[in-house]
Amino acid sequence: AAKQRNDGAVVYDAAMDKSSEKSLSLLTELRNAIERNEFRLHVQPKIMLDTGKVVGMEALVRWVHPERGNVFPDEFIPFAEQTGFIRVLTRWVMEKSAELCQELATKGYPLKISVNLSTRDLMDQDLPAKFAETLLRHKLAPGSFCLEITESAIMDDPVRAQHTLERLSAMGFDLSIDDFGTGYSSLAYLKRLPVNELKIDKSFVLNMENDIGDTKIVRSTIDLGHNMGLRVVAEGIESEAVWRLLAELGCDQGQGYFMSRPIPGDQLIAWLEKWQA
Ligand code: C2E
Ligand code: CA
Ligand code: CA
Repeated sequence: AAKQRNDGAVVYDAAMDKSSEKSLSLLTELRNAIERNEFRLHVQPKIMLDTGKVVGMEALVRWVHPERGNVFPDEFIPFAEQTGFIRVLTRWVMEKSAELCQELATKGYPLKISVNLSTRDLMDQDLPAKFAETLLRHKLAPGSFCLEITESAIMDDPVRAQHTLERLSAMGFDLSIDDFGTGYSSLAYLKRLPVNELKIDKSFVLNMENDIGDTKIVRSTIDLGHNMGLRVVAEGIESEAVWRLLAELGCDQGQGYFMSRPIPGDQLIAWLEKWQA
């Protein structure tokens, strides 16, 4: 890149060029990945903590790169958000989730599927109509979907977020606040949002049986959620002890490696059959 110096001379900034070249090629790769079918829909089961019954699953995207192998979402979602590519990806995830949801329903497993939305999605004016079209095509009710939005995505532009969430809620989508407790959301906003679920961030859950501070936070969050009439879900359950503790505290649902890691969507039925047996 050419840069103007204070003295007027133009210098070449190789470092800057390298990083913008890298971003450009990552964006190209992401765009190609859709066409080349390199994204995979994984799902992680969501379970009632009192009965162990499976009630739904969360859709989590994976990128199988031809050279780099499995690329995890933390490595490309933030970039996809910065560049706006996330809007294309969210539509892809919604489409694949709808296909899976429909297939599961036909096979006797009417499960709700949770889809993650980002800040950019909340600003996408066409998103609600696009979702409506996808549902119609697959003959699915919006109530079969839960949309997860992080606290920080909401707080990026709370007025806009509230507007979009109200539209999605009026359409019949279930809404969840993800990573609850890690952002800076004010309870004044939360109380006005049309949400149905609070999802306690895994950072408070992972080690809660050994950490009295975490246990207190989790207990208070469960009470807060229930007092607001919301369903409370814990993520990051890695042991039976944590499951038990959460069930004792009255947490409604949970997800975690103890029950299942995220698995490819087409392996879910086999997993469900094993889980029920
Ligand atoms: P998230 O929405 O908070 O998803 C939960 C993450 O916790 C997932 O990581 C999941 O694999 C992981 N997890 C689940 N159970 C456990 C457990 O017991 N222990 C531990 N240590 N981790 C557990 P993953 O799949 O790598 O996704 C990371 C993040 O990337 C997600 O966090 C979400 O913010 C984002 N993401 C993934 N897929 C999508 C997508 O389709 N759209 C958008 N917008 N974001 C996505
Ligand atoms: Ca999530
Ligand atoms: Ca989370």
